[in-house]
Amino acid sequence: MALSKTETVNLGTLEVGNGQFLVIAGPCSIESYEQFSQTAQSVTDSGAAMIRGGMYKLRTQPHSFQGLGKEAFEIVKRVKAEQNIQFISEITDPRQISDFLEVVDVFQVGSRNMHNYALLKELGSIDKPVVLKRGFSGLIDEWIFAADYIRKGGNKNVVLCERGIRTFETATRNTFDLNAIAYIKKHSDLPIIADPSHATGDSDLVPSMALAAAAAGADGLIVEVHPDPPSAKSDGFQALNLHQFRNLMEQLKQILPILGRELTTKAN
Ligand code: PEP
Ligand code: MN
Repeated sequence: MALSKTETVNLGTLEVGNGQFLVIAGPCSIESYEQFSQTAQSVTDSGAAMIRGGMYKLRTQPHSFQGLGKEAFEIVKRVKAEQNIQFISEITDPRQISDFLEVVDVFQVGSRNMHNYALLKELGSIDKPVVLKRGFSGLIDEWIFAADYIRKGGNKNVVLCERGIRTFETATRNTFDLNAIAYIKKHSDLPIIADPSHATGDSDLVPSMALAAAAAGADGLIVEVHPDPPSAKSDGFQALNLHQFRNLMEQLKQILPILGRELTTKAN
């Protein structure tokens, strides 16, 4: 497996791309202190090294839940202080950067913003890492160039995230491009993680695609997890419940050593 080409990138106090396997997990959207705190505690107990949670959501329909926005910041601060855990969230507008710097350890650029060069340039001049999701219609080369926009500004801590692309196939929410993971490993020095939640849009398909991503050479995963997926305010159909996530982590812990990878644990 061509791991040697991949540069090591710092995600907060954690490292990606050095043969370790980093799992980020949490809800699509932060909905309440209870929901976020319970999820964070459970996913880290199961082996996740970092938590995710959307504060501002880019929804296809304007009447869908748009995220708690500013209200989520207080929830995040409290959970991070109580649980001593690192946090990633999607930035949807360059004007949010200074607020985000207070609570996020890692910035997530979502699929809809891969081509937002104004945002990418701004993120190039900050000193926090960025996970750059692939645009759902983005070519691999365009995605690498988008990462270069961030790196050109001096911010070298960029990690790609394959989250599925739009194809003629409509049976699943997106088409998970496993080729892209192997291709990036061969042609780029950027670490790459995979998002089997958005790639499939179906919680039943998430565990197998998560394991497939690991086998394809991914440096980690970002997985949507919710304590009660049917009640989730966004993307509940693709969220694992706490028990399902624990089972996935147990499987990963068995498979990763065979793949020559070690699970990264939550660092302090
Ligand atoms: C998300 O991570 O919740 C999200 C909106 O992902 P994407 O940008 O890949 O659609
Ligand atoms: Mn989501």
